[in-house]
Amino acid sequence: MLGPVILAASRSEQMRRLISAAPVTKQVVDRFIPGETVDEIVPIVQDLTAKGLELTMDVVGEDITTPEQAAAARDAYLLLVDRLAELELGTRAEMSIKLSMFGQALDGGHELALANVRPVVEAAAAIGTTVTLDAEDHTTLDSMFAIHEELRKDFPQTGCVIQAYLFRTESDARRLAGAGSRVRLVKGAYKEPAEVAYQQKHEIDKAYVRILRILMEGSGYPMIGSHDPRLISIAQELARRAGRKLDEYEFQMLYGIRSDEHLRLAAEGHRMRVYTAYGTDWYGYFMRRLAEKPANLRFFARSMITKG
Ligand SMILES: Cc1cc2nc3c(=O)[nH]c(=O)nc-3n(C[C@H](O)[C@H](O)[C@H](O)COP(=O)(O)OP(=O)(O)OC[C@H]3O[C@@H](n4cnc5c(N)ncnc54)[C@H](O)[C@@H]3O)c2cc1C
Repeated sequence: MLGPVILAASRSEQMRRLISAAPVTKQVVDRFIPGETVDEIVPIVQDLTAKGLELTMDVVGEDITTPEQAAAARDAYLLLVDRLAELELGTRAEMSIKLSMFGQALDGGHELALANVRPVVEAAAAIGTTVTLDAEDHTTLDSMFAIHEELRKDFPQTGCVIQAYLFRTESDARRLAGAGSRVRLVKGAYKEPAEVAYQQKHEIDKAYVRILRILMEGSGYPMIGSHDPRLISIAQELARRAGRKLDEYEFQMLYGIRSDEHLRLAAEGHRMRVYTAYGTDWYGYFMRRLAEKPANLRFFARSMITKG
């Protein structure tokens, strides 16, 4: 029951100031967000790729308030693409983007976000990689899917994320399961009302399996974004039944969570992509990681008490 409380707290400016300034926060944050700058993240990218893993890179930040911040977000991703090109890692690392960081919630935000994201998608394609649009809260999704569709006209490999906890997602999955599409299925990380989303874990898990079956039986490229051992073995079974080869779907997990499992799946011959976040505006991302597992919060609270 702690999860929704933490997600609600993550929207509080007072809480943001308190947590961001706490002296012990950084050690806990580092587990999930292993760098603040592109130079700090490069050794992580090199290490993970050397271990046979692939990456999707997230420059953290969301809910920006000015067009200048949106342009800065675009430029941070363009810098990242340049560094990946220098390292010749373009084919091993893609980008994950939250459109709220590209200006989606500002006045004229839909057009602004599209204008900001397009150059990143172009630059990514030029070095042999691509972009996946993350899914944020349900009010942003019609705009996200419209931007995704627009980008796919020129860059059909552009991916998007769908969230199993939303009632709408089975129908989104049917629409998106066609040839050439790349779709990441996750459970969903935001606080959503009962009018639009399942609230119980077992209902979300059942929806995840129904939606995954749609993706696996379709002709697109499913990306299984979960650390849940049960769902991972169900995914393997669904892929087998659908006659998919190992390179016709992939697993994705977050940096810092079940790292042994990343290596185990890669060693079995699966494509395993690690979602690796970096940057200074880590608060929203960090709070969602705390909300997903109460033990994380207990660990964090204990560090605050013993060292703070
Ligand atoms: C690659 C990737 C991309 C994602 N992109 C999005 C997105 O665009 N939009 C969105 O709404 N959500 C996104 N998520 C988050 C997702 O919605 C879930 O909140 C998150 O993955 C936890 O769900 P789970 O499937 O891992 O299952 P759970 O049942 O939550 O977890 C299964 C097990 O995994 C481990 N675990 C899970 N989370 C944590 C954690 N934070 N800390 C420590 N251990 C943990 C625990 O051992 C837990 O028992 C993404 C997740 C992944 C893996």
